[in-house]
Amino acid sequence: MKEKIIVVQRLLAEKGLYQGEIDGILGPETLAAIHKIEGMNPQLPNTRKIAAIIQLGANEKGIEAGAVDGLWGTQTQFAFEELVFLYQHGRRRSAWRPEEIVPANRWPRQNSPEFHEFYGRRGENLITIDAPYELKIAWDLRLRARKITCHRKVAESLTKVLENVRNTYGENDINSLRLNYFGGSYNNRLMRGGTQWSTHSWGIAVDFDPDRNRLRWGRDHAAFAHPIYNEWWRCWEEEGWVSLGRRRNFDWMHIQAAEL
Ligand SMILES: [Zn+2]
Repeated sequence: MKEKIIVVQRLLAEKGLYQGEIDGILGPETLAAIHKIEGMNPQLPNTRKIAAIIQLGANEKGIEAGAVDGLWGTQTQFAFEELVFLYQHGRRRSAWRPEEIVPANRWPRQNSPEFHEFYGRRGENLITIDAPYELKIAWDLRLRARKITCHRKVAESLTKVLENVRNTYGENDINSLRLNYFGGSYNNRLMRGGTQWSTHSWGIAVDFDPDRNRLRWGRDHAAFAHPIYNEWWRCWEEEGWVSLGRRRNFDWMHIQAAEL
């Protein structure tokens, strides 16, 4: 909350409505400034007033926050984080351009002869890696894990991805964005609803936050389709990992070290 009020105070100060300290405290001076905003309903709960100022301020800076309704959804969260970045660095977070990524690896195409030659037989060549941050087990959130079972040929790359994720987002954002909701890696099974073996059977696929990225959901529903996850995808794609969501717009939870 304090961080949100700091942003609100900055926005109000820029408009010349607030001359007090930028201290993140919602005192009388800050509230008075909030009420000077045209159209602000003083009856609204303070949380909604704060959200509305952030939405308004973001929109005025060309950061898309959607409707100024004081309701905090993913779009507002995204706009808020953009504002925080803007105030910290004096510029927008650089727009993410996937065409600029030159992947470090080219993983073999799924089910091609090269694939079988490269990865060998299902369920072999498995090792465990240490995750650089604690994982919550998505199907039972009381459980935690720090190890991931995977194919030894992807181990180094997977570690690098997760280290990049940790360095990019930090542990707090990893938690709030549910990047630590682990949905499984090695699993010797057929593809859901298919007759071919899933890439999970080789330990070269990982799933994250399955509840909010369901198998049949497209980008209108899947959480990972939101721009706040652009950096998450950059981390994977720099290492050549393939997202079914990004490529085919389904199964956004699933990422694999194999081309389609
Ligand atoms: Zn999967």
